[in-house]
Amino acid sequence: MYPESIQKLIELLSKFPGIGPRQAARFAFFLFKENHGFVEELRTALKELQDRVAVCDVCFRTMEQEEGGQRLCSFCRDARRDRSLIAVVEKESDMSNMEKTGAYHGLYHVLSGVISPLDMDSPKKIRLRELYERAERMLVGGEPCEVILATNSTTEGDTTALYIERILSPLKDTHPSLKITRLGRGLSLGSELEYIDEITIKNALSNRK
Ligand SMILES: [Zn+2]
Repeated sequence: MYPESIQKLIELLSKFPGIGPRQAARFAFFLFKENHGFVEELRTALKELQDRVAVCDVCFRTMEQEEGGQRLCSFCRDARRDRSLIAVVEKESDMSNMEKTGAYHGLYHVLSGVISPLDMDSPKKIRLRELYERAERMLVGGEPCEVILATNSTTEGDTTALYIERILSPLKDTHPSLKITRLGRGLSLGSELEYIDEITIKNALSNRK
């Protein structure tokens, strides 16, 4: 019922997390009405996102694209960080929250999603194999390794944590030095790392087991 270009835009915008067709239509008409400058700025930002943003080869955190070589983010390159600790988070904003507390000095692993009990394919969509291989590389190299499961205290976060524990268990059998801990339950049920305060995260970190 809308012109084809607007319909297409609505379809695309509906793919954003949490955005339904009605909101997508509002956005599309906003873009249509908004002055040329805004749309141009948005176009540039999207282009830069594609051209200039990369993910770290080790932890999958986003970073500025650099020329050649292995892509390592500033955390993975920082020699002052405790390299034996890997906090596994669902998304990058969870990492930022842990970082803000100043209580954690290890490294991260960004899964880029969670396992949903309703989506059979979801384990394949997140970076589980990369986590396994990363831990394996460390252990084979004789390095100490603690995987801290810092997924949210939601059904999906808990499912993901259990799943990770399961896939890492053969590795633990061959390398008993591997530690797998879960962020302590200072976090109330259903809470997401994104919304809780620093003190709660600090407690959860010191209560991990
Ligand atoms: Zn990194």
